[in-house]
Amino acid sequence: PSIEYEQLRRRVRQNTQEFWNYFNSELQKIKKKVVNDVPEVAEQVNNILQLGAEHKRSLLSDIDQMRTVDGYEHWRQRESNELSNLVQKRLHYLQNPGDCKTARKLVCKLNKGCGYGCQLHHAVYCFIVAYATERTLILKSKGWRYHKAGWEEVFQPISETCSDVDATYHASNWPGQHDTQVVILPIIDSLVPRPPYLPLAIPADLAPRLMRLHGDPIVWWVGQFLKYLLRPQGATENMLKIGMERLGFKKPIVGVHVRRTDKVGTEAAFHGIDEYMRYVEDYYQQLEINGTSVKRRVFLASDDARVLDEARKRYTQYEIIGDPDVARMAAVSTRYTDSSLNGIVLDIHMLSLCDYLVCTFSSQVCRVAYEIMQTLFPDASDRFKSLDDIYYYGGQNAHNREVVIAHKARNHDEIHMKVGDLVGVAGNHWDGFSKGKNTRTNQIGLFPSFKVVDKVETVQLPTYPNVK
Ligand code: GDP
Repeated sequence: PSIEYEQLRRRVRQNTQEFWNYFNSELQKIKKKVVNDVPEVAEQVNNILQLGAEHKRSLLSDIDQMRTVDGYEHWRQRESNELSNLVQKRLHYLQNPGDCKTARKLVCKLNKGCGYGCQLHHAVYCFIVAYATERTLILKSKGWRYHKAGWEEVFQPISETCSDVDATYHASNWPGQHDTQVVILPIIDSLVPRPPYLPLAIPADLAPRLMRLHGDPIVWWVGQFLKYLLRPQGATENMLKIGMERLGFKKPIVGVHVRRTDKVGTEAAFHGIDEYMRYVEDYYQQLEINGTSVKRRVFLASDDARVLDEARKRYTQYEIIGDPDVARMAAVSTRYTDSSLNGIVLDIHMLSLCDYLVCTFSSQVCRVAYEIMQTLFPDASDRFKSLDDIYYYGGQNAHNREVVIAHKARNHDEIHMKVGDLVGVAGNHWDGFSKGKNTRTNQIGLFPSFKVVDKVETVQLPTYPNVK
């Protein structure tokens, strides 16, 4: 298929959703206004909303169907495998230099002072810098807060031949010179100077293929680093297998991640279980649109054990799997050093294996699961519903969208946009509007989400010509 066709197909899907977000939100407002004084109008609006939601599910279902019958699905599978193989081989090549003694290296300390998801993102950031500078990544993980003995006991070592720096070389701080043998990388928050290849940029040599294949190439790109990093050791693999069997993990299944405890009120808002389940319900209604009913399954991961109880009590038509003990451990672990590694590894693994995710993207746990999910489908960029943020990568460079339809602000909350303007996007309000800053006018405010497209940043990086 042409890149134009693929992008258009995804855009139709996304904007069908945006169209519904807009109508649903506006009609809800009207309903609220009239419900006391003119209940019959409220009732009428309700009817519109109900059939409208069915309309939307039918449209989305048809669009998804179109993808499976347009004759390109085989190509998508193959292209996805080939691209992934290529990147995995490059990473393997980078990590296994012919002569470790003379190889240029980048040292990264795993133990950033934050949670497991945050530390994985830290490791991915280090790996991206390693890839871009053609330095073998040395991951220092002794004393890791999640496993004192280090990374290599949990996941396979990231190198078979080169996993430490020779103490006789002295190391330089970032950025060093090209021929500095060992460079130590600080955390992304204190990286100076900042190179252009940090997320959300993708490598130029892969960009044309990635942009054709995938709806959000940076998520795919990040996912590839996680795929390499998270190859489990035997014991971990066993733990995952047993854990999934014990819980009865089976498809179809929707993954729900509810992040509570220390996050609520500081970095994110509280969301009741019904807010998540509304989208689970919607997912299954769309799946069952042709009258075939399926066993409605949910995998629920949380750091708040009470959520599981509450969900099971209130949503009896669902089979809700999850482990309250894991959640109880998690609640403690978000604040203290802990023995809860297996729980979070298993939870993220299972979330990533789900057909669809409902969560808050303010949590790195869910973003990691979503990133890994991209390695399991040719394009899973639309298999999520976030109750708060759009996808982002901590410490990322600007996220711009390009205006494709002009917009005249209709009130003080909205911004003007001309075709071709770049808008730095801050977030989607999931009501048809997004918030951002027009980089031409510096005006900050709301704009209709359907009037822009993502601007994928590409950057020239090494092309690893030795890797075929
Ligand atoms: P964030 O704080 O949600 O952005 O994500 P982090 O991964 O950086 O830190 C949160 C930590 O809390 C995780 O690493 C886990 O240790 C724990 N945690 C949060 N949610 C869950 C969950 O659903 N399951 C488990 N097992 N642990 C969780």
